[in-house]
Amino acid sequence: MASHLSRRKFLGAASTAATTAIGAVRVAEKPALLGGKPVRSEPFPAWPKFNSVEEKALLEVLRSGKWFRGYGQQVNRFEQAYARLTGARHCLATANGTSALFICLNALGVAPGDEVIVPPYTFVATINVVLLMHAIPVFVDTDPETFQIDARKIEAAITPRTTAIIPVHIGGSAADLDTVLAVARKHKLPVIEDACQAHLGEWRGRKLGTLGDTGCFSFQASKNLNSGEGGAILTDSDELIERCYAFHNNGRGRRATSYDFSYHSSGHNLRMTEFQASLLMAQMTRLEEQARTRDQNGAYLTSLLREIPGIRPARVYEGCTRNAYHLYMFRYLKEHFAGLPRAKFLKALRAEGIPASDGYRPLNREPFLKQTLSSRAFRAVMPPERLSQWQERNQCPENDRLCEEAVWFTQNMLLGTRRDMEQIAEAIRKIQSYAAELAKA
Ligand SMILES: *Cc1c(COP(=O)(O)O)cnc(C)c1O
Repeated sequence: MASHLSRRKFLGAASTAATTAIGAVRVAEKPALLGGKPVRSEPFPAWPKFNSVEEKALLEVLRSGKWFRGYGQQVNRFEQAYARLTGARHCLATANGTSALFICLNALGVAPGDEVIVPPYTFVATINVVLLMHAIPVFVDTDPETFQIDARKIEAAITPRTTAIIPVHIGGSAADLDTVLAVARKHKLPVIEDACQAHLGEWRGRKLGTLGDTGCFSFQASKNLNSGEGGAILTDSDELIERCYAFHNNGRGRRATSYDFSYHSSGHNLRMTEFQASLLMAQMTRLEEQARTRDQNGAYLTSLLREIPGIRPARVYEGCTRNAYHLYMFRYLKEHFAGLPRAKFLKALRAEGIPASDGYRPLNREPFLKQTLSSRAFRAVMPPERLSQWQERNQCPENDRLCEEAVWFTQNMLLGTRRDMEQIAEAIRKIQSYAAELAKA
């Protein structure tokens, strides 16, 4: 912590000098919103990327007539390949990332009225799956420096009703797994890593999604590995993988023929198709190379943005040895931009040809949450006094502030050149030089 602070101070001092020098040059060109020439006119790299490799893979499945995992070998092959790639003992492919999480909660036996610890800074699916179990999401505030769950605050949220912890590796960088896993071990709680944004991300050299009891991935269209829709579960447990398999297959276990109608449990149909699996195999041939490009561009962009006062790129925990960069995230501190509101900053940035988003809203404050928790199904497991206790406990002030300051770039923007990164920094500097005028405009 101390070395981090002193490095920050040092960078702060260095950046003042850099701004003055570069700032003077930039002032010449007006922001696009004020009638100047945009920094960029070409689009960022398109997503997804594909060619005849994908065409061939999909046609092969089509022509085989084997479109269901029970008839073909594609899903089995993908599961083996993804397990090998990540170092997990087992992989189960699923219809999507939401179902991967849902299957894990079922396999772990989370029951109505149980509490599940979650971060408020995540995609809504992380919370929805908890509600689908009629379990209660307990939010632990965000570490605004990293955008990840503040793992130091997890222990205080544990009660006798807690049955699982779902850390999310948001943006593809890692939650502080040393702390999460230590507290989970101490309280004998299972950990489901939501690694839906963290393909090839690492914690101390091990792949994200392989450190918890289970890890869940999404292959939805925006994700770094994409089959339109798709998902996967990783686990080292022989027992859990069979429970997950049965649940995802209407309670039917692995069997020799499709005529075996014996059941292990109740279940669902959340299977992946052969088409999805063949597309994933093709996309996987590009995954490492794309990840390496994002590594390089992401690190370069951070070195440029760190020099701009009021731009705070998300810090990465020391244990995170590889950031998957699903999102490039930073905080925008408007005090350094003449009070220019974030919405106007984003508008000015888009006008420069740099698409950017303001990201998630505070999930713990979503009105649908309280509605769901007061529904008839929840009233059966959660008396009104528990609902009001829940409301009191679920304050996440750091996350509230983060949601007002956050800015994101999407992963495909990191697939281009160093010049692209320089143009992002250039556009932000330009906006900063004219922030007062933009605030008035
Ligand atoms: C995408 C995502 C999910 C859900 O995955 P789907 O494949 O869209 O169902 C869950 N959690 C996080 C953090 C995600 O980004």
